[in-house]
Order: sequence, then C-alpha cells, then structure tokens
Amino acid sequence: MSIYKYLKPFFISLIMIILISFGSFAEKYNNNLYRDLNSDKYTLCEKKHNLKNSSYNPLIYSVEKITRFINSFNKKKAKENNTTTNSNKVEKKSKDKNNDINKDSNKVIYLTFDDGPSKNITPKILDILKRENIKATFFIIGKKGEENKDILKRIVDEGHSIGNHTYSHDYKYLYDSPNNFINELYRTRWIIQSATNVDTKLIRFPGGSNNSFVSKDTLKNILANLKNEGFVYFDWNVSSDDASRSDISRTEIESNVLKWINTYNKSIILFHDSDSKNNTLEALPKIIKKLKSSGYTFDALSEESFNHQFINSENLNSLKETNKNTKKRLNNRKSNKKYKK
Ligand SMILES: [Zn+2]
Repeated sequence: MSIYKYLKPFFISLIMIILISFGSFAEKYNNNLYRDLNSDKYTLCEKKHNLKNSSYNPLIYSVEKITRFINSFNKKKAKENNTTTNSNKVEKKSKDKNNDINKDSNKVIYLTFDDGPSKNITPKILDILKRENIKATFFIIGKKGEENKDILKRIVDEGHSIGNHTYSHDYKYLYDSPNNFINELYRTRWIIQSATNVDTKLIRFPGGSNNSFVSKDTLKNILANLKNEGFVYFDWNVSSDDASRSDISRTEIESNVLKWINTYNKSIILFHDSDSKNNTLEALPKIIKKLKSSGYTFDALSEESFNHQFINSENLNSLKETNKNTKKRLNNRKSNKKYKK
C-alpha cells in the first residue's frame, strides 16, 4: 500500500505530461488544419494526416471534428457574404446597365415625308401632326415647292424640319454627273429659303444614297461636295414601302412600319407625300397612336440629330455599280415605265 503512496505523485505527473503533450499536439494539428483549410488545402492536409496517424485517436478526432465544423461554418458564412457581395455587385451592375440603357433608350421616331409638297396631301398630313402635337421632316422637291410656297411656309411655321430632295427628282439627269446633282440642290435650297427664310442643310438623295443609278465615282464626288458645302444627308432605317406599288393598301403600310417596333430605339421612317398617297395619309393616325403607346416620342431631323446613312465615305466601296450598268438599268427602267403606261 505504501508503494502506491510513493508512486501516486509519479502517476499523476505522468498523466499530466501525457495530457499536456496531447494538448500541445492537438493545438498544433488544429492550427495546421485551420491554416490549410483556409488555403483550400483541406483534403490534402487530411490525407497527409491520415497517412502519418493511421491509428484512431479520439482526442485528435474530436478536435478535428470541432475544427471541421468551425471551419465549414466559417467557410459557409464567408461564401454567403461573398455571394451577397457578388449579388450586390451584379444588382448594382445591372442597375447601372439599366440606367445606361435608360439614358440611351430614348425611343425616338423621325417621320419623314419625301417628294412633296402636294396640294391635297401635305396640308392633311400637317393637320394630323398638329392634332397629335408631333414634329416631322419634309424632304421637298424644288419643282413642286416653287408651285406651293405657301405649304412650304406652313411646314416651317408649324415647327417641322424641311429638307432638300433636289429640284427634278429625275434619276437619269441627277446621277449623270455630280454637277447636275449639286446644281439641283442649290436651286431647291434657294426656293426653300425664299419661301420660308430657312437655309436648310438637310438633304435626301432621291432613291437613297445606295440607289443603283449612281456610279461609285459620281457618288464619291457628290459626297465630297456635300461635305464641303456643309450639307447633311439622311437615309432611313424603316420604310413604309408606300411607293413600292401604286395599289399598296393602308393596312400594308401600317404593318410595314409597325413590324419594326422595338427593333430600333431610334427610327427614321420613310413615307411619301404626293397627291396619290391617300393610303399613306390614312395609315398615319394608327401608326402614330401605336408608336406613342409603345413609348416613342417624335422629333424632327436636324443637322445634329440621329442619322442613318446607307452609304458614306467609309463604306463607299460597297457600291459596286458602274456607270455602264447604271445607264443600262436606267434604260430598262424607262422602258418598263413605258410598258406600264
Ligand atoms: Zn423621292
């Protein structure tokens, strides 16, 4: 019994040393595990540990379990925070994007009427625009303008833009030489100015800038002249096709325009204004109503406004027509017209 009395402090000391050693080892292991977990090397660490300590140790196992729990909890929390931050970022980004879109998403329609003025139709178009309180742009033919100066004046007085669509609208003559085209622009410019006091710089090519009647060289020369004179020409990105056939119906004109709703934020829509364009006139109210209800506002073109040009100095080479082909085509067109009549 007495031997136990002497050995008791020794056993107690031994047990304490063992416990302290375990504690120190466990702490060291715990720290390593924690560090490695934080560096996403948990699996590797665990494998190494298992190789070195193949025997089951309840103390280490418990520490490991607790550490795993704490770390998985921390990781989950960190992931959640990260997700929240990311989702905040995504939300912010999408809000910013929406703001940008909203800034750019001014949905604007530029109604344009070519080939007027006409005694019967232009005043009725103006009545509709007045009733709807919207502005539009009229590209007028000089020859018709000089016969209807009062209508030119009304167009300008009511706040619409007026543009130059040459004097004769005669493709063969106009596109035969740059001088013919430029001279007609000047003649029409003077007619508009004398009737309205507006010296317009807005131009529209008869047939559009990509018409198949002008040669590349002639167009190149015309474009250089327009630039020198400060003229700005406008094509269109939506066509009502109201001049494609003489029997085109009101509903066809409506659908030709309205099918493009939501395709562009800004559209220059092509219509024609002549005494035979009753269907265009009748299609206008529905088109305007529908575009308004779709969130579009209406504006008149200006030198600084949105523009759409089919051909410009940068893509001029895409115009492949040669003078020879052009003349051939013009002759065909002429004979077709004769045949139709
Ligand atoms: Zn025209």
